Amino acid sequence: MKKYIMSLDQGTTSSRCILFDRSGNPVSTCHREFTQHFPADGWVEHDPMVIWSTEVAVATEALLKIGALWDEVIGIGITNQRETVVVWDKRTGVPIYNAIVWQCRRTAEYCESLVEAGYSDMIKSKTGLVLDPYFSASKIKWILDNVEGARERAERGELAFGTVDSWLIYNLTGGKVHATDPSNASRTMLYNINSLAWDEELAKLFTVPLSMLPEVKDSSGIFGYTDPKLFGVEIPIGGVAGDQQAALFGQCCFGEGEIKNTYGTGAFMLINTGEVPHISGDGLLTTVAWSIGGRVTYAVEGSVFTCGAAIQWLRDGLRLIESAPDSEYYASKVPDSGGVVVVPAFSGLGAPYWDAYARGMIIGITRGTTKYHIIRATLESIAYQTTDVIDLMKKVTGIDITSLKVDGGASSNNLLMQIQSDILGTDIERPLCVETTALGAALLAGLSLGVYSSLEEIKALRGVDKCFTPGKDSDWREERIRTWRRAVSRSLEWKE
Ligand code: ADP
Repeated sequence: MKKYIMSLDQGTTSSRCILFDRSGNPVSTCHREFTQHFPADGWVEHDPMVIWSTEVAVATEALLKIGALWDEVIGIGITNQRETVVVWDKRTGVPIYNAIVWQCRRTAEYCESLVEAGYSDMIKSKTGLVLDPYFSASKIKWILDNVEGARERAERGELAFGTVDSWLIYNLTGGKVHATDPSNASRTMLYNINSLAWDEELAKLFTVPLSMLPEVKDSSGIFGYTDPKLFGVEIPIGGVAGDQQAALFGQCCFGEGEIKNTYGTGAFMLINTGEVPHISGDGLLTTVAWSIGGRVTYAVEGSVFTCGAAIQWLRDGLRLIESAPDSEYYASKVPDSGGVVVVPAFSGLGAPYWDAYARGMIIGITRGTTKYHIIRATLESIAYQTTDVIDLMKKVTGIDITSLKVDGGASSNNLLMQIQSDILGTDIERPLCVETTALGAALLAGLSLGVYSSLEEIKALRGVDKCFTPGKDSDWREERIRTWRRAVSRSLEWKE
């Protein structure tokens, strides 16, 4: 009778729900955008009650759309925007402040003071993270320091902290369960990814009482059951993972060396490094991918700030194209970029350059340059930046990379994928189900609830939409990459 795995995908701009059948096919999807609050320059907040209510709304709507009932749901998987902080009263369940979103920079000065005081290496070695406001710890401290009475209440054990997964679990279980999974815990800057426990020294540094922190459970396992008062039935919550880690799972990157790239507004690459947390000082992050049956899989994560955003710039800034997919049509009108290189360093460059003062640049223009060349060079810039990060990952982990799994909006661009394969020199595989984040959470739940008996069984379900294989030799590749890096070197330290 039970047919569906419900995936709740709570993102930064929208709450989504996808119902999957037992074979991992999406059968109903619903999403709802919600309000972003910007109370001061660089500050970003969400209303936690809106996060919760929009998730319930989309879940209900996804069922109604196909005439399905709550008691046909086998179980729930949760995936979420990571690092975002909610603090609530344990007794009433009422948040004491808005959710502080991962993008929020309000603790930048405080984090800089910790860098100056020399805490970076200790934090990196324990958490795998770079000391930055992005992560949860400094945001929790901000709430405790700035909301009246919060610190005293926290010290009396009255307050709970959670990332968005914990907040949803708490509400789904009617306040019975305060838990998270290691993929989310590893983004808080309070979780020791070596000992796999909350770290007392870090909790002390960020002045966060340990009593606030959720219990950390396996990513694939029973977290609790929905309160029957909510949907009339008790449904198990069987899987939880942060969005990027869920996408890695949804791409079936189960083995060491398997890697995925999500080509969204920015790009996020994660490589499965097996049971070894490769912690490096190169600006890549080390993170827990998931834990199953008490065994933890690690990943190294790298990102590119400007990926699909460069295509948006062609569309909205330069008005060279009318829609993002147009980029493929125009770029294919020329065989190459005609020597033009676009460096889309709109807000500086991340790994491996780490230059906040780099700015965008178009170089190599001649009298023969057309808009087609510039569009093609912009697509190429996405592939070059991805290659830079993947090369760094290879160096840091010592793992050879033979194929790349892709998803995200810009991965639908076949020309971009072919260029990527040529420049990277590896095979690329695009799955049939590109909703890999939601799928990953559903699969984690399906595994713990006995829908699937093994990772092999899950892998066998994966359908491939299209493969791309490199069409150029290594001399061509090296020459292109050399030219790209020469161009990048000229864009560095531009802003004074
Ligand atoms: P996000 O989740 O970050 O909002 P999506 O995965 O929805 O991103 O992808 C949207 C991004 O992909 C946009 O920046 C858009 O410009 C880009 N994009 C979408 N389709 C294409 C395409 N066919 N070619 C190139 N870029 C594309």
